[in-house]
Amino acid sequence: MKVPASLSTIGWHAVYRLIGALFVAFLLGLVTGRMALSLALVLLIYACIQIRNMVLVDRWLRFRRVLPPPDISGPWGEIVAIVNRIYLRKQYHRARVTELMREFRQLTTAMPEGAVLLGPENEILWFNSRAGEWLGLKRKRDFGMRIENLVRHPDFVEYVRTGKPEGGVVVHDIGQGGSRWLAFHIVRSDTAVRQLLIVRDVSREKQLEAMRKDFVANASHELRSPLTVISGYLDALAEEEKLDPAWKEPVLEMRRQTERMNMIVNDLLELSKLEADDTPREDQPIDIGGLLTLLRKEALQLEERPRNIRVTLETDALLLGSESELHSIVSNLLSNAIKYTPAHGEIELRWWIDDEGAHLSVRDTGVGIAPEHIPRLTERFYRVDAGRARSLGGSGLGLAIVKHALQRHDGTLRIESKEGQGSTFTCDFPPHRIVPRKQQATGG
Ligand code: ADP
Repeated sequence: MKVPASLSTIGWHAVYRLIGALFVAFLLGLVTGRMALSLALVLLIYACIQIRNMVLVDRWLRFRRVLPPPDISGPWGEIVAIVNRIYLRKQYHRARVTELMREFRQLTTAMPEGAVLLGPENEILWFNSRAGEWLGLKRKRDFGMRIENLVRHPDFVEYVRTGKPEGGVVVHDIGQGGSRWLAFHIVRSDTAVRQLLIVRDVSREKQLEAMRKDFVANASHELRSPLTVISGYLDALAEEEKLDPAWKEPVLEMRRQTERMNMIVNDLLELSKLEADDTPREDQPIDIGGLLTLLRKEALQLEERPRNIRVTLETDALLLGSESELHSIVSNLLSNAIKYTPAHGEIELRWWIDDEGAHLSVRDTGVGIAPEHIPRLTERFYRVDAGRARSLGGSGLGLAIVKHALQRHDGTLRIESKEGQGSTFTCDFPPHRIVPRKQQATGG
């Protein structure tokens, strides 16, 4: 802000007053004939008035909480008016901030979520009572402490330090009594140095999810035995020579449908197994090149398939993972490519590594997928064209299985497709899953 060098209105008022006093002294000097004495007397009175005003202003400034502003005229009065205005404005803002803080505290106490305000070094600046209860934080004692030194769950510490994964973390039982599932999310802004950690109790959601998974797993399991019996009888009936010819076709159709039901039940069971966090999975170095070659060979034996199925291996590196799950990933992607690609089309299975990690892709020149369907393809039973998918014998669970199996390998699925031109499904694995073949040969 530029400060003007010229005198302000108050300054000019003071100057006019002084000139006025000198004029009075001059008149008094003329009347009395004692110019010097008149001048000295008037200036003394003038100085006394200034000192009195200054004393009044000083007293008011020091005790302005209890004293009303002094009733002074002239420049001092104007200064008092300015100071008083600033003081009243400050008082108003202070009251507003205090009121806001009180309401903020009341609201955050009533909030169903926990909230922790963190400084730039993740030190605790403030937290509401819910966060205190869930994270075992104590007021005063824990203010200023770094949160990762108090809440030491490895996933949480990783999230607070790196901000990843971006969607936040869900952590079970951070050891504060009771076994809660807590979801953490950090709210940051580009300009603010502080960050807000939001904590939600997601135990109920987790419980419902576990119930849903259990239900699907149990229902699929229970359906398996009756289906096996029905399939057995239908197989026997289909081969029965004395069967009324009118029943031949219905029996064959029943057999096809039972096969489909079997496939759905098996896929549901596989998905349930992949979802159950406690299923142990042995990580071994898997020869992806060998797996692709084997699956290509099996595919070539199918009657209805695209003419050209190739394997391109750009690395001989191995991938740390579960053989059965990786087999399931590739066979689901390959069987989709076969289903949705006409006989004159082609399919390429590719395996390569680069700086970002290892990649496995299944590319086809088939029917392709419209962009609006791509984000939803990995949902259970989501189909672009339900009629066609059913007639081709899909369970609608293939890509859901691929997604889950990939997650268990720290991998992600990328889908690129153009309608009418074909699709590429790429599985990306992080570098720590790559095992160079030499290391494997020396037993490393
Ligand atoms: P489905 O058993 O029906 O194939 P998936 O979960 O494997 O179920 O696939 C879901 C849907 O994604 C399929 O119904 C199909 O519409 C589409 N899809 C999957 N792979 C391909 C592909 N290679 N080309 C075109 N569409 C595909």
